[in-house]
Amino acid sequence: MPSDVMRVRLHLRQIRVLEVVEDTSAVLRVRVESSQTQLQCPHCGFKCHKVHDTRERQVRDAEVSGRRTTLVWMRHRFSCGNCSERFLEDHDSFDGKLTRRMAHRLVADAQVMSTRAVVRRHGMHWTVIMTLVRA
Ligand SMILES: [Zn+2]
Repeated sequence: MPSDVMRVRLHLRQIRVLEVVEDTSAVLRVRVESSQTQLQCPHCGFKCHKVHDTRERQVRDAEVSGRRTTLVWMRHRFSCGNCSERFLEDHDSFDGKLTRRMAHRLVADAQVMSTRAVVRRHGMHWTVIMTLVRA
């Protein structure tokens, strides 16, 4: 494991840093996975621990030291040992393609800045911000 992994501290519960994908003065990209080993099957309620495969999802996080931060979430797809259905894991820290703290940050910024300023600051599409503010 490269030594720089330990320099990134995300402070997200039950999220493990796998590697730093990109680390520049402007951008930070970090590959992560959930450390949850057991999930309840949404179809039958069985407690599942068998990972079938993994899909990548890009999740925008709040800035780290002024850098725009994206988490590359290696999202596990579980296979239920009881009903054989497959399902993708969810995580408390993530809401769609944003971390919850990033969503809160955008809403807070939108209350004190124009949408255009929030767009410029975070480099996100204005529709993302408008959707959050309306919700
Ligand atoms: Zn099941």
